[in-house]
Amino acid sequence: MSEAARELVVVLVEPHHPGNLGAVARAMANMGAEQLRLVNACAITDESRALAWGALPLLEKAVRTPDLESAIGDCTTVVGFSARDGRFRLPPLLVSDAAAELRTRGGKIALVFGREDSGLRFEEIERCHLLVRIPTPGPHSSLNLAQAVLIGLYEIEARAASPAETPATEGARQRPRVFSHEALGGTAEVLDSGSLERLIEDWEAALRALGYDSFGPPQLIDRTMRRLRRLFFRAGLERDDADMLFGFARRITGSYRRPGSKGGETEPNA
Ligand code: SAH
Repeated sequence: MSEAARELVVVLVEPHHPGNLGAVARAMANMGAEQLRLVNACAITDESRALAWGALPLLEKAVRTPDLESAIGDCTTVVGFSARDGRFRLPPLLVSDAAAELRTRGGKIALVFGREDSGLRFEEIERCHLLVRIPTPGPHSSLNLAQAVLIGLYEIEARAASPAETPATEGARQRPRVFSHEALGGTAEVLDSGSLERLIEDWEAALRALGYDSFGPPQLIDRTMRRLRRLFFRAGLERDDADMLFGFARRITGSYRRPGSKGGETEPNA
């Protein structure tokens, strides 16, 4: 079975500057994205129209919603864009890494951008399955809203068209729908983030036990852990999968004990 075609939906949360509406529409028209959704947004003005040069129809058919929930309800993958780092449950991915992943996915993908002055709120970030940061080597990490949209779409759409990249082909990779609402819906089987963090700690200990801190560059563990974290997240681990992975890691570190045996840890089952 092949996946549904990918559709990108750009969602702007409470944009205040009419000019940005136009500039975002133009960026979308440049990059071939068509669906714009505006959450509790400012009005379209002459300034918006001037900046939407060539993209006015796209701007005029933008869908307005009162809240984020109604803007992303029909999307199977929700990607939040944030200039900030580290404060959130999800570790931010570099936009190029996220883009490579997104190109393998079908269905409606929401790209969610925050307010010009204060970005996305914590509870909005919590609704995102993936958090993305555009690297900014300069001292100021916050891009203009429309520039962030342009770079996000460029990474996901335009680079996919480059022959150097492998384009997403229909059915090329069959993957679990790991960011699906079901997977994140808190069912009994799905691993909670606290257990995921403990699993990640155990795997870091396992890598150290395997000597990852004594060969290769000093960043080897960090790099490997970042990839492993992403892999675990992408895989949408269920409790049984995690118990197995805990078991592997603890056998490597020598801390595994069979359930019921004395004086050692067992694979966690909580
Ligand atoms: N001052 C705000 C930034 C708002 S910029 C803050 O500190 O969060 C408006 C929006 O553009 C952000 O909410 C985010 O969605 C996007 N954006 C700006 N710079 C970005 C960056 N470096 N990486 C990812 N998204 C960015």
